[in-house]
Order: sequence, then structure tokens, then C-alpha cells
Amino acid sequence: MSVTMHPEEFKRAGHEVVDWIAHYLEHIREYPVLPAVAPGNLAAKLPAAAPDAGEPMDAILEDFRRLIVPALTHWNHPRFHAYFSVSASPPGILGEMLAAALNVNHMVWKSCPAATELEQVVLGWLREWLGMPAEYFGVIHDTASVNTMHAIAAAREAAAPQFRTEGASPGLTLYTSEQAHSSVEKGAIALGIGQNHVRKVPVDGAFRMRPQALAEMAAADVSQGKRPFCVVATTGTTSTTSIDPVAEILPVARQFGMWVHVDAAYGGPAAILPEKRHLFAGIEEADSLVINPHKWLFTPMDLSVLYTRRPDILRRAFSLVPEYLKTAEDGRAVNFMDYGVPLGRRFRSLKLWFILRYYGREGVSRILRRHLEWAQEFARCVESDPAFELCAPVPLSTICFRLKAGDDPSRTLLDRVNATGKVFLSHTVLDGRFVLRFAIGNIATTREDVLGAWDLIRETARQPPPTPCIPAARRDEEA
Ligand SMILES: *Cc1c(COP(=O)(O)O)cnc(C)c1O
Repeated sequence: MSVTMHPEEFKRAGHEVVDWIAHYLEHIREYPVLPAVAPGNLAAKLPAAAPDAGEPMDAILEDFRRLIVPALTHWNHPRFHAYFSVSASPPGILGEMLAAALNVNHMVWKSCPAATELEQVVLGWLREWLGMPAEYFGVIHDTASVNTMHAIAAAREAAAPQFRTEGASPGLTLYTSEQAHSSVEKGAIALGIGQNHVRKVPVDGAFRMRPQALAEMAAADVSQGKRPFCVVATTGTTSTTSIDPVAEILPVARQFGMWVHVDAAYGGPAAILPEKRHLFAGIEEADSLVINPHKWLFTPMDLSVLYTRRPDILRRAFSLVPEYLKTAEDGRAVNFMDYGVPLGRRFRSLKLWFILRYYGREGVSRILRRHLEWAQEFARCVESDPAFELCAPVPLSTICFRLKAGDDPSRTLLDRVNATGKVFLSHTVLDGRFVLRFAIGNIATTREDVLGAWDLIRETARQPPPTPCIPAARRDEEA
């Protein structure tokens, strides 16, 4: 075996992989969305140590099909409706393959001009689709969690520049709603703000942050000697996709001198649609915004974008240039390493470039509109069935609902529906009640998938659960 693979061997295995991918995408509905496996099943089938002698590609690919695939949860399945439904679209997969082959690292412009400039161009395109002003600077990281942490760091830098050199600056206080994603709090933990200095602002009946409550909390904190420095609003919360009123949060934030970060990780793409823009009023004035093309923009994991209108501050928070990374172009070209913690960076913009070009604004809009429409249709099905109730408004493409009979029947229904392998739904808790979540967002999902899933849920709810042949207590022991 040669050190690098022989070109002919690479071609043969490469064609086999592409054929497998094409077959997988075409026949994906034949796979159960959730694997029928228990913890440890796969690990037990794999050797405890890596091989001493190299193995042929054939054997490796065979084990991929035989062992790995059956233990997969198929996130790319059109009937994956749990968490948020995502998709690796074919052009995105091709872009990802090329990025792996190129293996460039654009920590500075010099280390890869193409990746540096394509990232700027593609994020400019996306920014324009989202209706955000040209002064927004964009940077790609892996996840929204990491991007939000960077936004909070920039907010901290703006409020207390000594923090960077002196460490913890007591009293800095951050505000976000009770419905915000856990990444906000995690970012505050990582940055030394401290969990006790993250205030959870109450929400209204539609799970949106109450600006008046924000104002009252910030005023009370100021009178206690605290320093409000950042508010994180969410446009599309993780549980219900509720949309915080950014336009009303902004004046409160400005009054207290706070940085406004918008978490649009999931909901952001809806701003591409003119008829949905009003939901996002105010984002064009936010200091920063995060959006995840790897969620609802058909991009393979991982690609999250952080936009900020104050890149100078983000840079001030993170730029630290060792001698060996200084280049002649410094100051004339963007060096992305200056805008965050990671030094090395993958060529993620390539796949997004493929996707934006292949579908165009019209293609993307058509897909998003279908998802929004089917979500309304699903919500109407829920509402018209007397056994069920809708638990939150449906501004985007995720529906929260439950059996009126209560928590336990709803939980049992979720388990039974997921056990069919035909769909995968997840849950949340709203106002202390157990709620099922049905998320639509995969590019291959059809109206039949959505309505079929509803039929399955309704029929399952009607049939009495089968009596288990082993008593529940014993089953728990065995599991
Ligand atoms: C999914 C989600 C996140 C976290 O995204 P990652 O990229 O997985 O870190 C943050 N905020 C919201 C609103 C989300 O829906």
C-alpha cells in the first residue's frame, strides 16, 4: 500500500462513495429515521484498538454500510421532524467534498486568498438576501453557540475593555428571555460573566420577550450598582420559534448602553421572504446577529454566520497576532483569525456558495414558503382534532402541540410514534407542560410527508397502547 492512495484506487473508491451517496439520497425514505439500537451496540461490534496493518478501502466501506449506517439517526431524512429539521442538499454535499480535498486554512488572507475572499463575498450575498445593511461584517464559525459567545465577548469589550487584560469585571449583566437558547448562558459562563449575571426576562403569552420587563429589570439592576451590557434577543426560539420584538427591545437597550445581539440561528432564513420581513423588524440595527445556514438553509453541518456592524470591536476583543503569523498584507486584507478564538478555519463558504448559486433566491424562497405553508396546514389539522391542542402560535415552520389528555398520554404518544421508525419528533416543556414539537425544514420533505406524519400521529393516538408482555419495571432493568 502506498503512502498516498493510488489515483486509480482513489477513483474507484471515490465513484463508489458518490454512487452510495446518490442512492442514499434517492432511497432515504426506506431507512428508519431512528435506528433500532441500544447504547453500546455499535461500540461492541468494533475492535477495541485501531489496526496495526492498514486495511483496504473495500473493507472499510463495507463496514461503513454494515455497521455504521444501521446505527445512524438519519438527520437528512425528509421525515426527521425533531429538534430542527435540517438538510445537506446535493450542491452543499459537493461543495463539502471539494473543501475536504482542498484542505485549505484561511487563518490569514495570505494563507488562502480564495477562501478569505469567497467567505466575504458569499456572506455579502446572504446579508443582502436578509435585507441587512452593507456595513455588516460577516464571519463563519462552526456553530451558533460559538458565534453567540463571540458576540457576548464583543459586547463585553465594548462595555469594559479592561476585561481583556484584567479578567473578570464584576457587575456586568446580560439579559435574554426565558425562552432563549442555552448557548447564551453557556457563552456567559465561558466568558467569565457568570451564570448569576444572566437575567431571564419574562415572556408574553406568545413566548416573546417583554420589552417593558427588560426595562424594569435593567433599571433595578442599575440601582443595585450592576452594569447592563448586553441583551440577546431571539428571532425564532428553539422551543416554539417565538420571535422577540427586536424593534421594541432596541430603544430599551440603547437607553442602558447595551449591545444588542440577535439569535436568528434557526429563524433567520425566513427574513429572505419579503412577506416575513416584518417579523424581523429592527435586526438591521442590532450590533450583531447569528444565523445558521446549517439549520434552515440546506447547508451540511457545520456553518454558522456571525454578522456584526461593529467588526472593529469584535477584532479588538480577539486580535492577537504572533510574529509567525504577521504578513505583508496585514491592514490591507481581512485576516479572519482576528475575529475569533479559532485560528485554523475550514473552507465552509464554498458549500454555501454552491447552494446560493444552485437554488438562487427564488429557489430558496420557494422551499421556505412551502415549509411555512405546510406548518400552517399541520397546525390546522391539530386544531381541528378535538383530542389535540396547539400550545403556541406558529410564526415559522415548527408546531408545538399535545394531547388534551395531559402529560403522560402525550409522552407515551411521542414514544410510540417515534418507535415506528417512520418519523422522528421531539418535545419541549411550555408553562410546565409536556409538549410535542414537529419541525419542518428538510429540503426533500413533501406535503405528503407532513400530512402522512399527522395521520400517523392521530391514528397512533386513537389506538390503545399495546399491553407490554414484560412488566414496565422489568423492562427498565433490562434497558
Ligand atoms: C440551534 C440553536 C442554537 C444553537 O446552534 P448550534 O449551531 O448548534 O450551536 C442557538 N440558538 C437557537 C435559537 C437555536 O435554535
